[in-house]
Amino acid sequence: MNIQKSKHQTPAILGGERVRLLPFHKRKLMNKPQVDAVLKVMESESLSGFLGAVGPFFNGGIEVQTFEKLCQDFFGYKHAVTVNSWTSGLQACVGAVGIEPGDEVICSPYTMSASATCALFYGGIPVFADVEKETGCLDPESVRSCITPRTKAIIVVHIFGYPANMSALIKIADDNGLKIIEDAAQAPMTRFEGKLVGGLRDVGGFSLNFHKHIHTGEGGIIVTNNDELAERCRYIRNHGENVIEQFAYPEPFGLIGGNYRLTELQAALGSSLINTLPASIEKRNRNAALLDKLFAGIHGITPQKITHPQSVHSYYCYPMLYDEQAIGLPRALFVKAVCAELPPAENWETVPLIGGYVKPLYWSDLYQKRLGIGKQQFPFNLAVNGDELYQKGSCPVVESLYLKDQMLSMLTLEVNGEQEMQDFYNACEKVIHHADIIRTALPTEMNNTQVTLSHDAINKIGKHE
Ligand SMILES: *Cc1c(COP(=O)(O)O)cnc(C)c1O
Repeated sequence: MNIQKSKHQTPAILGGERVRLLPFHKRKLMNKPQVDAVLKVMESESLSGFLGAVGPFFNGGIEVQTFEKLCQDFFGYKHAVTVNSWTSGLQACVGAVGIEPGDEVICSPYTMSASATCALFYGGIPVFADVEKETGCLDPESVRSCITPRTKAIIVVHIFGYPANMSALIKIADDNGLKIIEDAAQAPMTRFEGKLVGGLRDVGGFSLNFHKHIHTGEGGIIVTNNDELAERCRYIRNHGENVIEQFAYPEPFGLIGGNYRLTELQAALGSSLINTLPASIEKRNRNAALLDKLFAGIHGITPQKITHPQSVHSYYCYPMLYDEQAIGLPRALFVKAVCAELPPAENWETVPLIGGYVKPLYWSDLYQKRLGIGKQQFPFNLAVNGDELYQKGSCPVVESLYLKDQMLSMLTLEVNGEQEMQDFYNACEKVIHHADIIRTALPTEMNNTQVTLSHDAINKIGKHE
């Protein structure tokens, strides 16, 4: 074996050569049509068309209304209501479905914080159900076990673009008279049994923030087939309290509005981008299929599988299950060793691999200390059996995904292709092949695959970067 080759074979984390030197591609969403669309609005001087008063512009300007029409057709829902962020959209949905102080809302603990805090704004109490290990989405059985006479709604998250088990969740909602809000922030064009997710039961929607499939800087889209819910969302979006009287709105509840309005600039940008989604989803699926095939032979790394018929992933990122016994390395060390084989990430979209997603939501101080609003800690002070809520260990699957079972890669994004998938796989394969060498290079107290290493401990290993 020549020197070059043996050097190549030393794991990069121990000083060897990287598998890939060329940086991964960054996305470029803002092209000529996007610049032209925004410039046209600039030149019109009409950057927002909303008026918080009775009249034709209560529902936004020309660009907002055009974009909403496009979204209705694109996602196949009767109504699309744009908002200035999906966080605002979630709050509007919670208000629209009529959550009241003390109502319990079943949430996923494995998601961005807003998927649960949205309930608190109307006095709803988030109750966390566990998720399925394979999908990261709410486990219908766990949801069922969380239901009490106070439960009013379920907030379903199609996390990472995987379609949650909507038929089982809708059955539970039907059986118990609950509403369903779908958080499809990471799942535009995700399909459950042939249908695009978002408003499959009541109401839900998508995020247009900088990190999502398409973006308008910030923004969101609510979708629903329900006239009344759409109407309430429109009131909540635009200072509804000002116009209730003139519009002769029938019931007074849940209608204290905000300013959740999208600008004309963002709407024009959204209109110019929406038709890029199908190609993006197709490319992400092609990349994912390449990785699925490559990892099929690896015992210890298991990509997500879609099990429902005619259902489609939208691959916000590429999730994998990790088995540290099979691979022979603690997950944090595996991730560090794989990243060492690849060019350093320059931003979120070039991150080759991370271990786990966000901390289970109920671990945060908001829930552990019931911070809520004011000294009375509203609305946690209204919780019945409040002491039983938010106990560590209460959702074991999510805790284990976070601590050791799951890894995510951003590399299936549409800008990458066959070469990038192969390089990523080669990096993983090389680390797996050298797992023993990497492990024995560690101080003995870390040499136990059972130990989940802290980030500090991992940072002390290897002198890479
Ligand atoms: C991004 C995201 C949100 C929040 O969307 P914003 O538009 O950033 O407010 C909510 N839920 C999930 C799952 C998300 O990924």
